[in-house]
Amino acid sequence: MMMGHMEKLGMEIYPHLPHQLKNLACSFEGYRLRRLRFGGEHDKYLDWLEKSQWWSLEEQRSYQLDQLRLVVASAEKNVPYYRELFKKIGFCSQDLNSIEDLPLLPILQKVEVQKYNQSFVSEGLSRKEMVKYSTSGTTGTPLSIMTTPSCIQKYFALPWRQKSWFNVNKNMSHASFNGRQIIPQKQQHPPFWCQNWAGRQTFFSIYHMSPANLPAYAKELMYRREYVVGYPSSLYIMSKYLLEENIRLPWRPIAVFTSSETLLDNQREAISQAFQAPVADYYGMGEMVSSACECSHGRIHFDFEVGIVEVVPVGDEPNVGRMICTGLINDAMPFIRYDTQDIVQLSCGECPCGRRGLAAEKIDGRVESFIRTPEGLLIKRISSIFRDLPGIREGQIIQTEIDMLQIIIVKAPTFSQREEDELFGRVRSKLGLSMRVEVEYVEQIPRERNGKLRAVISKLNKDIEIPPGEKASRGVL
Ligand SMILES: [Zn+2]
Repeated sequence: MMMGHMEKLGMEIYPHLPHQLKNLACSFEGYRLRRLRFGGEHDKYLDWLEKSQWWSLEEQRSYQLDQLRLVVASAEKNVPYYRELFKKIGFCSQDLNSIEDLPLLPILQKVEVQKYNQSFVSEGLSRKEMVKYSTSGTTGTPLSIMTTPSCIQKYFALPWRQKSWFNVNKNMSHASFNGRQIIPQKQQHPPFWCQNWAGRQTFFSIYHMSPANLPAYAKELMYRREYVVGYPSSLYIMSKYLLEENIRLPWRPIAVFTSSETLLDNQREAISQAFQAPVADYYGMGEMVSSACECSHGRIHFDFEVGIVEVVPVGDEPNVGRMICTGLINDAMPFIRYDTQDIVQLSCGECPCGRRGLAAEKIDGRVESFIRTPEGLLIKRISSIFRDLPGIREGQIIQTEIDMLQIIIVKAPTFSQREEDELFGRVRSKLGLSMRVEVEYVEQIPRERNGKLRAVISKLNKDIEIPPGEKASRGVL
């Protein structure tokens, strides 16, 4: 998420360093990030989070309302975009008396933030107090965000609270499979990883995980680590390889923590099986208006301390909607009612872990990862068609036209005609007969610029309109 020194400098000098110096550079960068993320207010905030997670609903709501008032008052006073907007619509921060009053303000779209970017920056802080970074921009255009070290320290405390649910702490060793470019693209020989001694972390490059290189990864993984983190798609490649080759690691991580992409059911199963450990997902975003953490009961709890989540219904399914979030922690660039474009399926009833508040069964990534049928249906989680087909190592689905679907497949050696037939059968049963389907077999599926794999891409017009006048009444917390 954050643009590190290494990434800036990186691609000029770093690739030419010998391996031990790479480890040193990785460690230096690790140390820098550790100070930025875990310095200052981090520990104090984390201590407070350990307590606030047990608050009652009333306590949560009263805290959120206090914070929301501060955010709206500061936006009115210090943020040019909101000053103008409030004037235009005749809103004044005093009009806000409860969280339910939020719909007095319009929903904010990402394109607005891109267009008026600098007008969202607060004049209440000096630029010296701020940190600038770009969000990874899964959908192509990165977004420039201003924040403060204190906000980063708070935001990065939340996944650590989640890790504490699994008895994982910062001093534990771990393997990491995320988007960092730590090994030159052209490198053909191991090591495809480097050590961050400051964080007791081995960074595995996810850009080199070709079938020819995977045996080297497996060998490096023979060394014990206490836990594992990474993108679901990269951990899935590793896991499939270990399972296909019947390789049993001589150690078990306490847990595997995934983030940054939608975690698919088949990925979760394979990862959990290969590492013999529970998988816990984390949902966060560069805009820092919301975050959510999966507990050991498989429920995804929204972090009420970070933002207020409104859920606007999409389609007819009960408890499914689009997440509109108001951030409570970033003073430098406040976003009120920001349309994350992510779709959430809320869960009902209390979680056995005892944490109260808004929780989800699933968070389904961006709206453009939905397939639409000529009959007008909206199909979620279409990538489940790849489930339990061991001959398919990896798959991607692209909708190019309303009645045209491309399926891209990386085959495992065991792939059979029977599996292809089964796949077609599933597509038919989910999407009906009018959808045309083309299958293409490839060696590797290209990643986005940030190393993420998008399992489903819709090239249709992306907007799923929120009906005018729709009040985001359900699931407000
Ligand atoms: Zn729970």
